[in-house]
Amino acid sequence: MSKEVKSAYYGSFFHAPVYGEFEYLEDALIEVDGDGVIVRVVTGDDPCKSDLLEAYRNRGMLVELGEGRFGLPGFVDIHVHAPQWPQAALALDEPLYLWLEQRTFPLESKFSDMEFARRVYGDLVDALLARGSTTTVYLGSAHLESSIELAAICAEKGQRALVGKTVMDDPAANPEYYRDASPAQAVGDTATLIKEVEAIGRASKQGIWPVITPRFIPSCTDEVLRGLGDLAASTGAYVQTHCNEGQWEHDVVLERFGKTDPYALRDFGLVNERTIMAHCPYVTEKEGEMFAELGVAIAHCPMANSYFSSAVAPVQRFRKQGIHVGLGTDISGGYSPSMYENIRQAVLVSRLLETGVNAMLPPDERGGLGEGTRVSIVESFWLATTGGAEALGLPTGTFEPGRAFDMQVVDTKRPDCDLTGFGVFDAPIDRLARILYLSTPDNVRKVYAQGRLVCDKDAR
Ligand SMILES: [Zn+2]
Repeated sequence: MSKEVKSAYYGSFFHAPVYGEFEYLEDALIEVDGDGVIVRVVTGDDPCKSDLLEAYRNRGMLVELGEGRFGLPGFVDIHVHAPQWPQAALALDEPLYLWLEQRTFPLESKFSDMEFARRVYGDLVDALLARGSTTTVYLGSAHLESSIELAAICAEKGQRALVGKTVMDDPAANPEYYRDASPAQAVGDTATLIKEVEAIGRASKQGIWPVITPRFIPSCTDEVLRGLGDLAASTGAYVQTHCNEGQWEHDVVLERFGKTDPYALRDFGLVNERTIMAHCPYVTEKEGEMFAELGVAIAHCPMANSYFSSAVAPVQRFRKQGIHVGLGTDISGGYSPSMYENIRQAVLVSRLLETGVNAMLPPDERGGLGEGTRVSIVESFWLATTGGAEALGLPTGTFEPGRAFDMQVVDTKRPDCDLTGFGVFDAPIDRLARILYLSTPDNVRKVYAQGRLVCDKDAR
């Protein structure tokens, strides 16, 4: 059944339905229905186009992107710690355990204060939308109430979101002032979160989903991990956690269970086709096979890899193994809320992984993985859009019929950030590369999520 077109968008668009490729839809018309879903894409050379344009214009339904402006799919950011927004960019020179103890835990503990939580979360969601992120996977604090509030804020502002309450119950690993009181309370709160956030999601157009969120194995007791695994089985809810982020976690888990993170998480029932594993630089070929088989998604967080992992996740190997991979800003293990920044970093760290970096050693002894390791800017664009959508199993990430209309409009002619290249090297790939590498938040002028205008800088 064809749906009735409620709005139409005319202009030139970039998207990447296939890994490693991009499509440039020049002077195309995208028709969107009342649910914010793309009905049809009329290409620039379609003979019907001019009649349609005239009809939509006459009915006041047409949005024209305008000269020098391009539509890109909204980004899908699959790893964000919402309560860490106030410390983005801070203390990144510290080792992970000190960063957690001295900064992160004291900060996250403040989210028992609902007024503070509302202020920070509202600002974060606005900041992400303003940078083109229309879908975000959030870890909240360990507090139930403010995590539910985060879901409500996303619903209200129009961002598609997955929201979890972070679980951290082990008294030996977490400070007394900031942890779950018991495994039973942590599992009970998570069950409540699932119900409440599902209700918020049902009332929203773009969708909001709950996520079962053990922080990482070292902060959780066996009992809570088992309880959350059972909850994952009985509810079918999404699961997210950190997997093999750095050498310390890797060693701690191995010592505790005699097996590595991926197997330990699997054996607690936390690894399935709705699981999002952040980081994973230490995931071996064999563990990767298990992830591929079980349908796991990996959130590649290139900035956090550089700061906290002493390693770089081998994205191309994961892709070849058939694992879903998307990108995460990992606020605040990464300093930037911008997926543009992370698209760039995913390319850069892959180049270092390819070659290794110690020039005092012969080239073949520098630890680089060699050919087939580097991630191109177009592949990175795919990871930030289609890859994230695939990772979550949500219909977004491209401009194709049946997908949600999530779009950011990038103006390449802004004062102080001109991306036109003065008319030289003007092929579509050059235009796209300039947009991806050089855009500032100011270049992103309008953002639509599920057909709703959720950010409009032109109106300011
Ligand atoms: Zn994280």
